[in-house]
Amino acid sequence: MTGAAGGRTVSVHDSLSDAIRSAHLVIVGAGLFGLTIAERAAAIGARVVVLDRRTTLGGNAHSYIEPSTGIEVHRYGTHVFHTSNRRVWDYVNRFTRFTDYRHRVLAVHADQVYPVPINLATMSAFYGRRLDPEQARELLARERSAAPQQADNLEDQAIAMVGRPLYEAFIRGYTAKQWQCDPRRLPADVIRRIPVRFTFDSDYFSDTWQGLPERGYGPWFDTMVRNRSIDVRLGTDFHDVRHLLDGTVPVVYTGPIDAYFDHRHGALGWRTIDFTTTVMDIEDFQGTAVVNYPNEDVAFTRIHEFRHLHPERTVAGGRTVVAHEYSRSAGPRDEPYYPVRALEDSRILSRYREAARRETNVLFGGRLGTYQYLDMHMAIASALTAFDNDVTHRIRS
Ligand SMILES: Cc1cc2nc3c(=O)[nH]c(=O)nc-3n(C[C@H](O)[C@H](O)[C@H](O)COP(=O)(O)OP(=O)(O)OC[C@H]3O[C@@H](n4cnc5c(N)ncnc54)[C@H](O)[C@@H]3O)c2cc1C
Repeated sequence: MTGAAGGRTVSVHDSLSDAIRSAHLVIVGAGLFGLTIAERAAAIGARVVVLDRRTTLGGNAHSYIEPSTGIEVHRYGTHVFHTSNRRVWDYVNRFTRFTDYRHRVLAVHADQVYPVPINLATMSAFYGRRLDPEQARELLARERSAAPQQADNLEDQAIAMVGRPLYEAFIRGYTAKQWQCDPRRLPADVIRRIPVRFTFDSDYFSDTWQGLPERGYGPWFDTMVRNRSIDVRLGTDFHDVRHLLDGTVPVVYTGPIDAYFDHRHGALGWRTIDFTTTVMDIEDFQGTAVVNYPNEDVAFTRIHEFRHLHPERTVAGGRTVVAHEYSRSAGPRDEPYYPVRALEDSRILSRYREAARRETNVLFGGRLGTYQYLDMHMAIASALTAFDNDVTHRIRS
């Protein structure tokens, strides 16, 4: 196997074993958790090798410029940066500036369009009359009073929060499509809370700082690894090269925790997403970035139209790029997106956590390494903390 490194074409295995031999730290995964650790380690003078089986930086936050339109497409679905964590905000602003984009999402139900999360505008349109905050509270209280006393599944829990009509319009079908099962068969704690706003605030995120990287995700991630001490090896699967590690170099592993242990305690459950991405010969398909389709008679869950994420950019040529999103259970060869966290998964996970504690020279981090959903700012925050409290003490001198 050969590959380009620093302008030279070399045998990847030979050069990689040399690189690992002289590294202070090896990081598996070039997602935001891995990139943050790499950047921090290099900043204190450590030599770092970063491996990723994909050929791109940024994990699921990767985007690319669609060549025929110049539109930035988010390969793994719309990613909007948002945080209320001052440290994270200051950190990311060292690598990119952000636009002032505010994410607003719409949902189509019975051929009408409603803003989500559910707010005063949603309720007024849905119930066909202008509601003030007090009237909306009273109306929901009446709807909720019909809910079963004991909520022991997702459906009953949702009805106890928003009442049956809103549940059936916006939640039941979406949940059934996402989880591929009847919401009455899902545990109540899958939706601990549904945001309902008694104002006309229709912002999707309520964090202090929000936006999109001004020049795109690619330049942001490139800037994070622009350091001679960081050696990035894309298209390199950890499992193909782990024999090169002799156990003395510390490893930060952000791949799936069950795969690290060759699934010896069983496979953890994930949901995956399929995207069908299409370039269309029209200027504007849906007039906004994301539209949800909660009804079950439509197979997809959302449509993304990426040009609307950057209204400040000019798109020439009267074309647009849209992606239809379909959710399903992940098979062994699928990209894992959301942890299922069923009862059986908790049992399996505790065995892997125990095994991970015994891997003293490996830190398991990120969404796949800890089996939990993390937004970008959460991945960065946990990487910064892990670096300060743990990785910095492990780095090989
Ligand atoms: C559909 C969707 C939409 C999202 N939207 C948002 C959003 O709007 N805003 C937001 O803040 N967050 C969003 N997120 C969350 C975000 O994508 C990530 O969860 C977050 O950035 C976590 O980063 P990470 O580094 O932990 O994991 P990842 O980004 O998954 O990176 C892990 C990396 O490890 C690599 N890897 C795995 N196994 C191996 C191996 N064996 N060898 C080598 N490399 C390996 C993978 O290829 C991957 O690149 C969204 C997620 C999804 C699924």
